Amino acid sequence: MTIVKAQANVAGHRTLMTAYHADLAALSVPRYTSYPTAVSFSGKVGASEQRQALGALADDAKLSLYLHVPFCETICWYCGCNTGAVGRASRVTRYVEALLSEIETVAQLVRGCVTHVHFGGGSPNALPAAEFSRICAALQRSFRVDPAAEWAAELDPRSLDADYARTLAGCGITRASLGAQTFSLRIQQQINRVQPFREVALRAAELRAAGVAAINLDLMYGLPGQTLDDIACTLARTRLLAPSRVAMFGYAHMPRMLPRQRMIDDTLLPNAHARFTQSLLAHEMLEEQGFATIGFDHYARPDDPLAEAAAAGRLRRNFQGFTDDDADALIGLGASAISQVGNVIVQNGKHLGRYVEMVNSGGLAGVKGVTLQPTDRARGWVIERLLCDGQVDLDIAHRTFGIRGLLDRRAHDRLEDLVLRGLVTISGATLALTPEGKPYARLVASAFDEHSALNVQRFSRAV
Ligand code: SF4
Repeated sequence: MTIVKAQANVAGHRTLMTAYHADLAALSVPRYTSYPTAVSFSGKVGASEQRQALGALADDAKLSLYLHVPFCETICWYCGCNTGAVGRASRVTRYVEALLSEIETVAQLVRGCVTHVHFGGGSPNALPAAEFSRICAALQRSFRVDPAAEWAAELDPRSLDADYARTLAGCGITRASLGAQTFSLRIQQQINRVQPFREVALRAAELRAAGVAAINLDLMYGLPGQTLDDIACTLARTRLLAPSRVAMFGYAHMPRMLPRQRMIDDTLLPNAHARFTQSLLAHEMLEEQGFATIGFDHYARPDDPLAEAAAAGRLRRNFQGFTDDDADALIGLGASAISQVGNVIVQNGKHLGRYVEMVNSGGLAGVKGVTLQPTDRARGWVIERLLCDGQVDLDIAHRTFGIRGLLDRRAHDRLEDLVLRGLVTISGATLALTPEGKPYARLVASAFDEHSALNVQRFSRAV
């Protein structure tokens, strides 16, 4: 067992001390935004299972809609999303028309009420403002939408202005997530995403002035050339923006799967130890700024609904990460969007041409997925509670899902070493992460995963 005490001095003031396990930090582990994870999706589940699951939703089902916009003005080299350069206007119009067809098809199939709408991508604001408005109008027209529903959008500050901010607010968007990643110009150049801090600050002010009151900020550690000083400077500037939430993701370098990442100079990437201290520094600084820690990579103001959900044990984890969204069904619309409805998880085709063809012929676009077995639901619940609450009572899983023996020999063998290292405790049927175990939450949760092998190159580092 390798335990090194991680220490970092930043600006001569700060010292971080915690157990660093080099062998564990280097492991690749799923992010568990679903269980089973996407690695288990197969072509045996597709559009017909998607249709059946959507049609079986009850009248009073709460629906969460995710709309994927696979375009960006320019492509960042670190990006792992299904997106491409915006290109010809006709290509964008063709995609929007297809999205409108899919909205109509799905709305005719489902009952229930929409309580949450989330635009992601890509950059939803790579769409012309008129096209964005058309999509929102179609959603309002086609679905029964709760007037109190939250409407959120991920935005690229570089392709935003005051007019676009007013369009977003006019469409009902109340929460915007701004992609920032870092405020260090040197690192921005390394990842092909140059956006001065003043530009992001101006965009945030324009959004607020238009009425988009909640601003989230997405940041990263583990970027090429990034140091603790960079993290500290970025977080000092973050304070000035007064975001409601901050997401602090570790950069996952997987150039074999994501060719655009080959543009990144991998000799500049921080090693596992440096990544670990960067994430700890971010954690410490964000808590000092008054944020509550949500799961393992999100932070929220205590009066933000996400922090309130976490404090009340209502935090959930879905394809967008940690969320307060308590919908019964997540319906993904657009190329590569994933739906989780009833016992079915299904992903739309990623290829734009094929997606457009499928939905324009009046069909659904699901091409691969998985049907959840009772044991998947129980294991998924255990993994979700561990990641959201830092602890789980297996007796509740037994009572709720009728599944016994979740702490089987395999899980026990995987957890034994983590218990010895003081990262997790087992007391009766209750598992709890220790404070030192929190950075390894995904690794602890993976003990209950009977589908994915660890260290597969498709997954990101454990820390
Ligand atoms: S703007 Fe966002 S979605 Fe687009 S390439 Fe950059 S990181 Fe990816």
